[in-house]
Amino acid sequence: HLEGPIPVPDLDASKLTVTLSKSLKPIPYPESLVFGSTMTDHMLVASFDPVTGWSAPEIKPYGPFTLDPASSCFQYATNTFEGMKAYIGPDGAPRLFRPEKNMARLARSAERLALPPFNPNALLELIKKLVAIDQRWIPGIEGYSLYIRPTIIGTRSALGVSASDHALLYVILSPTGPYFRTGPKPISLLAAAENVRSWPGGTGSHKVAGNYSPGFLPQRMAAKQGYDQILWLLRDELEWKVTEAGAMNIFAVIGREDGDIDLITPPLDGTILPGVTRESVLAIAKAHSAGKLTLPGVNSTQRLYPQERAFTIADMDQWLADGILQEMFAVGTAVVLTPIGRVGFQDDVKKPARDLVLPLHEGGMGPVSRAMWQMIVDIQKGRFEWEGWCV
Ligand code: PMP
Repeated sequence: HLEGPIPVPDLDASKLTVTLSKSLKPIPYPESLVFGSTMTDHMLVASFDPVTGWSAPEIKPYGPFTLDPASSCFQYATNTFEGMKAYIGPDGAPRLFRPEKNMARLARSAERLALPPFNPNALLELIKKLVAIDQRWIPGIEGYSLYIRPTIIGTRSALGVSASDHALLYVILSPTGPYFRTGPKPISLLAAAENVRSWPGGTGSHKVAGNYSPGFLPQRMAAKQGYDQILWLLRDELEWKVTEAGAMNIFAVIGREDGDIDLITPPLDGTILPGVTRESVLAIAKAHSAGKLTLPGVNSTQRLYPQERAFTIADMDQWLADGILQEMFAVGTAVVLTPIGRVGFQDDVKKPARDLVLPLHEGGMGPVSRAMWQMIVDIQKGRFEWEGWCV
């Protein structure tokens, strides 16, 4: 009779074996890349067995897996993933942006799905090795990077509705270009009351696969009505709280009476994914206000007050009526930062959406959005060293 889990070997980067591909793929023209569609030559794989623990990790040629059709991941969505990027710095070496945040989030997501735990430091070390091996895939052109997709899936091959005690961890890489090829273009969002992405007590703050597929139909509906993405809402008493936009966190730039700026984003109340970019924007705003950092294009005497607080569609209506809603933008690893031009609020699916139109800015981005975007990109690309964010 055993008490508690049996200690089994953890993920161990020193046990890595590398089998290089004998036929390297041709690298496509960067201009032809479609996000997430091209994979590099190699992948990282390790598997978990409840008796033998994590297997020795392997880097091997990219290719398909053979999985039992009864695998937990196919039946019960015991799937979690991360999204991060490697950039080529001015020294020609690849660099990762705050990768320990992604490792910690993956560990939390795996725990939420009762998937086996793993050593996040070991995984980061292995990802660095994989990126170094496939480094030739990182386009050295401005705006290009290597998207990294660490994934853990449950591989218990039995139909009983219970936690997966077997798992497969893998990491794949995909070269990616700038989200906007012809300069920033404000996106439109459909704030549809009909579908919610997350709710108190749910899994919205975890990066689990089951959060995403239910968003595909609403996304298709939004596209049909001419909107780029969904603005996810959550009903709170009689108000509609704003939570996230597509797979991005959202910010509102509000002019204050004293000439300073409130930079508002919804709080991490369990319904919102704690984005790495979100946290970075908040930290940069704080550093700017403390005089520790100069944001290009933002008056150095103008303070940015980062605030994590809930706001609603009614608040947005009021801000627009008062003429103080200067900019809205969304942030995430894939896009970095995109300005928002229009939000259609649809509280009744049978009626057309009512548009809330945001101020237009020359060049597509307002000054705060542009300064934030520039600062983050400069840090990611290694043109500006900040707080050891790049490794
Ligand atoms: N919200 C959701 C639902 C997401 O999937 C993502 C992408 N991970 C984000 C926000 C942005 O997070 P990050 O800045 O870490 O990419």
